[in-house]
Amino acid sequence: MEKQCSYMKALKCRECGHEYALEATHVCEFDFGPLEVVYDYERIQGRLTREVIQSRPQTMWRYRELLPIAGEPTVGTQVGYTPLVKADRLAKRLGIRELWVKNDTVNYPTLSFKDRVVSVALSRARELGFTTVACASTGNLANSVAANAASVGLDAYVFIPHDLEQGKVLNSLIYGARVISIKGHYDEVNRLCAEIAGKYRWAFVNVNMRPYYAEGSKSMGFEIMEQLGWKIPQHTVICMASGSLLTKIHKSYQEFSKLGLAQSHPWKIHGAQATGCSPITTAQKAGLDFFKPVKPATIAKSLAIGTPADGFYALKVMKETGGHGEDVTDDEIREGIRMLAECEGIFAETAGGVTVGVAKKLIAQGRISAGDSAVLCVTGNGLKTLDAVAGHAGETREIRPSLREFEAVLALDKPDLARS
Ligand SMILES: *Cc1c(COP(=O)(O)O)cnc(C)c1O
Ligand SMILES: [Zn+2]
Repeated sequence: MEKQCSYMKALKCRECGHEYALEATHVCEFDFGPLEVVYDYERIQGRLTREVIQSRPQTMWRYRELLPIAGEPTVGTQVGYTPLVKADRLAKRLGIRELWVKNDTVNYPTLSFKDRVVSVALSRARELGFTTVACASTGNLANSVAANAASVGLDAYVFIPHDLEQGKVLNSLIYGARVISIKGHYDEVNRLCAEIAGKYRWAFVNVNMRPYYAEGSKSMGFEIMEQLGWKIPQHTVICMASGSLLTKIHKSYQEFSKLGLAQSHPWKIHGAQATGCSPITTAQKAGLDFFKPVKPATIAKSLAIGTPADGFYALKVMKETGGHGEDVTDDEIREGIRMLAECEGIFAETAGGVTVGVAKKLIAQGRISAGDSAVLCVTGNGLKTLDAVAGHAGETREIRPSLREFEAVLALDKPDLARS
């Protein structure tokens, strides 16, 4: 029995509109369309005001009425409300009037935006009576499921492709989760997880719990609008794996606009991928409504999904908002990581390098005008993908502990200072 503080009405097929009970299920029986949570916006309207939101703690749960749980959150209650940084130095470097970085590299507790989706999925999983949670992951999701499950004593099984970065693997193992490494790409991991989910009564956060999980991404958009002074940004650049985050940030803008919580004006949503795994942006650039699956080969392993579950809907959002897709090479990803670090003091993982690199391209192409304002969604922390930048971040200068040797080095940088 759902409590009265739930504002969810049902799960609904995005294709045929057929409605389902609010259980752990994610595809329509008739056409295999994805299911999405529907809310009672009439009841939310008037209850969720700017004042109510501002009176609550600074976490993603301050928008609780628009998140899909029935009672109070019980997992990840501290997640979200990460900084929105005014990135003036990066703006100058990229040639745009105003630039903001939504900095989820410091999200709590596992330093990526995945803590948002996991806190929702696990809170909902407990409401539905699950005691074992699981996921198919490109790394960050596994970290977040492992940590958040540990924090409340849920059993966790996380499934990852075998070739992930050491940092991502250790960041799952340390919490005591069972880490299953699959000899194959993410798509094969995902297929196996669908089979397992059909057999065991486990809450797979991005399989049978996917409708709830995906809604958690909206909180990133809600925060951006509130932090901009209840405004929807003109341009938002978002990196894509399955494409879910991109579609949900768009949904967050629609919801705040519908509820009168943010000023409504046209906005553009731009999608970013790595060239080595760019099924969605390749289709967007070719003007197609459907993507062609690919075999990933990129240093942006967190984004390496060759058959993106929400790719079709991500294409639709870009088309409807007049946004664009672009992709960047491994070298451009590293350059993006370095630019963000040097200009703003933010060390992002490869996915952040993808976002910055693509923003640079879109500005240079004039698709984001130099006179406009843009938000870049930076979704994960560079400390977890050190392998990607090792050997590309400059070199230390080793000397003996002698002033003379130091000044010899200093003279290379600042001849005047070293002479005096
Ligand atoms: C998972 C992930 C994404 C993209 O997620 P989707 O919602 O599947 O598109 C972006 N950045 C990072 C760091 C991620 O881990
Ligand atoms: Zn359907």
